[in-house]
Amino acid sequence: MEGFVPVVGIEIHVELKTKSKAFCSCSAGYGGEPNSRCCPVCLGMPGTLPVLNGEAVRLSALAAVATGCTVAKRFHFDRKNYFYPDLPKGYQITQRDTPIGRDGAVRISVGGAEKEIRIERIQLEEDAGKLIHRPGDGVTLCDFNRCGVPLIEIVSRPDMRSAAEAAAYVAEIRRIMRFYGISDCKMNEGSLRCDVNVSVMREGSDAPGVRCEIKNINSLNFTAKAVEAEFRRQCDIVSRGGTVVMETRRFNEDTGETERMRDKETAVDYRFIREADLPDVTLDDPFIEDLSREVGRTPEERMREWRERWDLREDDASVICFSREMADYFERAAAACADPRAVTSLTVGTVIPEFGDRAPFPPEHLARAADLFTAGRLTSTAVRKLIKIMADSGLDPDGAARENGLLTLSDRNEIRALVECAAAADPRSVSDVRRGKSKAKAAIVGGVMRLSRGSADPRITAEEVDAFFAEDGD
Ligand SMILES: [Zn+2]
Repeated sequence: MEGFVPVVGIEIHVELKTKSKAFCSCSAGYGGEPNSRCCPVCLGMPGTLPVLNGEAVRLSALAAVATGCTVAKRFHFDRKNYFYPDLPKGYQITQRDTPIGRDGAVRISVGGAEKEIRIERIQLEEDAGKLIHRPGDGVTLCDFNRCGVPLIEIVSRPDMRSAAEAAAYVAEIRRIMRFYGISDCKMNEGSLRCDVNVSVMREGSDAPGVRCEIKNINSLNFTAKAVEAEFRRQCDIVSRGGTVVMETRRFNEDTGETERMRDKETAVDYRFIREADLPDVTLDDPFIEDLSREVGRTPEERMREWRERWDLREDDASVICFSREMADYFERAAAACADPRAVTSLTVGTVIPEFGDRAPFPPEHLARAADLFTAGRLTSTAVRKLIKIMADSGLDPDGAARENGLLTLSDRNEIRALVECAAAADPRSVSDVRRGKSKAKAAIVGGVMRLSRGSADPRITAEEVDAFFAEDGD
């Protein structure tokens, strides 16, 4: 593979988070009894007419704005004709001529290097059904519940040059789609899947070779592995003087290799025609301006800002910026506290692992808990305990810490009084110290810890024990 680089472009299919399907009122939710979420429209019965779902248009336009695309102010739909048992209509409603979004870009970061990946187009279309191959008797069953579920296809330019960049791009698209509530992007439920185009190019050249498409990849890990395997395969062919054939392939998760798909789709003529049953759609400027306001600062912009303003590490920023709720929450808490690093570590280390996206108390309370920790009033164990107690009890941080005895005792007078008690209770250690065995001071420190049930500040305790014996000697 010396002397070659992979050239990768990706088509990502994202199912939109609408309640109903794209062109009828059937539920678009995942699952359900097979064929229980269908009607004459999504089954393509003669004489039925589709009605466009406005929320599907809004979400796909939002996706276009969030990825820097230009939104089409007027668009129509096209029919892509082909026969397959999971497509009862015999055609898919999609957008060939007038995609809802064009010419966008997202930024990715791999190993500290930033890069822009351009997006060629985003089109709104409908999903097909699912074929279930029943093991044993060779029977294939059809479930049409997914037929007509709205999805967008996001087509990148071939800008990626490694498996890591391909995975980072898919991860960034997934982040954006989740962040704005466009899709839940559950790759295991098929609501985000990728077709990856790979070709090889000689280093220093700008002419990639023939590309192969690897269909239907459903995880980030497999995206990277499929790119690596296909790159290896093509390098092998080219370096032996062979020619790569344009074809559709799939990634075999068991062997880790790509293999030619039995049903070759390369020579299919889809006979695109304009979808005459749906009227043209016009989006006015106020609608698009509203979407821009809704997008606001993108996740990528926020993460950059956090790194610059609060010195966040890239992977911490990435964990926090997984959802908009958590990103908003974190920003409010970090802005309200003395040391945003404490809020960062509590958010990443405790709040997200315990409560996921939805923190169960106000961000100001998290900021206050972080401040108590920064000021040394809470140990790291105590502050984690406090967060769980606040979530269960609804108490504010000061109240919860006091009621549960979590605060570190740091009042010198109180600690001094405890030192005197501990000394009075342990005359033997006191006389040991006086005879020069300064190691016996540890017993007095231990006594203070017992009396304070572990809450005495260790540094102040040690100083007060020293002071007690120093005055004693005068
Ligand atoms: Zn339907």
